[in-house]
Amino acid sequence: MTVLAEPHSSLEQARILAKAAAFAPPSPRMEDGRLDLVGLSRTELESEIREIGEQPFRARQLWHWIYHHGVRNFSECSNIAKPLQQRFSERFVISRPEVVAVEQSSDGTKKFLMRFRDGQMAETVYIPDLEDARGTVCVSSQIGCTLSCRFCHTGTQKLVRNLSAAEIVGQFMALRDFYGEWPTPQGGTPRLLSNIVFMGMGEPLYNYENVAKALRILMDGEGIGLSRRRITLSTAGVVPVMQRVGEELGVNLAVSLHAVRDSLRDELVPLNRKYPLAQLIEACRRYPGASNARRITFEYVMLRDVNDSEADAKELVRLIKGIPCKVNLIPFNPWPGSSFAPSTPEALERFAEIIMAAGYAAPVRMPRGADILAACGQLRTACGRARRADAEAKNIYCSSPFASPASASEGSIQPMFPSLRR
Ligand code: SAH
Repeated sequence: MTVLAEPHSSLEQARILAKAAAFAPPSPRMEDGRLDLVGLSRTELESEIREIGEQPFRARQLWHWIYHHGVRNFSECSNIAKPLQQRFSERFVISRPEVVAVEQSSDGTKKFLMRFRDGQMAETVYIPDLEDARGTVCVSSQIGCTLSCRFCHTGTQKLVRNLSAAEIVGQFMALRDFYGEWPTPQGGTPRLLSNIVFMGMGEPLYNYENVAKALRILMDGEGIGLSRRRITLSTAGVVPVMQRVGEELGVNLAVSLHAVRDSLRDELVPLNRKYPLAQLIEACRRYPGASNARRITFEYVMLRDVNDSEADAKELVRLIKGIPCKVNLIPFNPWPGSSFAPSTPEALERFAEIIMAAGYAAPVRMPRGADILAACGQLRTACGRARRADAEAKNIYCSSPFASPASASEGSIQPMFPSLRR
């Protein structure tokens, strides 16, 4: 299809990478000259260790202490002699974002405001499973977002910068600290922090290099060891990068679809003007590793009288025909100033029925943490450039980021109508 040649060109990929570089995170080197070891790949860690004249096995030991035991001080590394611990602490640090506020929803969901070294902030959400002792960590990949999806609160916050691999992995590690889940549970031992979704603030595929690096660390079997099956990356449809996710990372893919005609999707998800539906759907068809066991998730936010008609549902079924997938229906989560309303339960049910009748699972994602604005699309911090721009636009929410209509994230996937459970 000629339509695919352009977005897949290496030129287009290079353009995306160049743009990401313009929003680069701060360097891993502290002001005092020490280097942050969190966020380095194994190879980078080894070369740093070699650089200071130590044996490569020290890198493996450190990796294990950092990602398996969760230590933050070299003095806790008991198989490393004191003088070497001292050497390491003069040269290196093991960082964490600082948790500056925690809000608890009545449903157990917790929202964490994280502050990074340069003072910028982002939000991370923990969504406990309602039945089991496990749960999902929803991480942010950027501070702010460039996409401006009309129904998304994060979309009203301009992109401040990308998060580094250390800051992405750090969100998960800070939650492990909070919940006391170190060392990494082994084998079949249940994990409280069992899943990760990249559904917080930002578009992960516009920060692909840092996200990919973070994912390799999160999946490393000698550390945090999360299986790729428990990781989901959500994109609004950055078509030229989607293939790389499948080929290089093999994690689950979720695609924020939200409309089935270009005219409407152009409005709701302006990225559609760059990568329209035909290209997006084709990229899903070609997503490496998609199979009935590993289905793509299409996310569809249900907006009353906007995208929730029976005709929309039928067109959706037509579009996704032949793709191993499921459709995740997300009731719209309102936020102050938003101009949409959630679909009625009847419209939601009818929509789900049409999709299920065509043979696809269509779970409704129960909003989680909505009372603390921690549900999908509600995450938002007010700081830096964005804070100023936003203050001008709305004249609100400047005093405390947390007292404000904060941030955006994700709910776990729960069928809303038990009768629709498949
Ligand atoms: N940029 C990525 C990651 C954000 S994920 C993406 O677009 O996929 C957050 C999910 O919540 C996306 O599917 C997003 O479209 C959806 N969402 C955003 N605002 C929402 C809102 N107010 N109510 C419900 N879902 C929303």
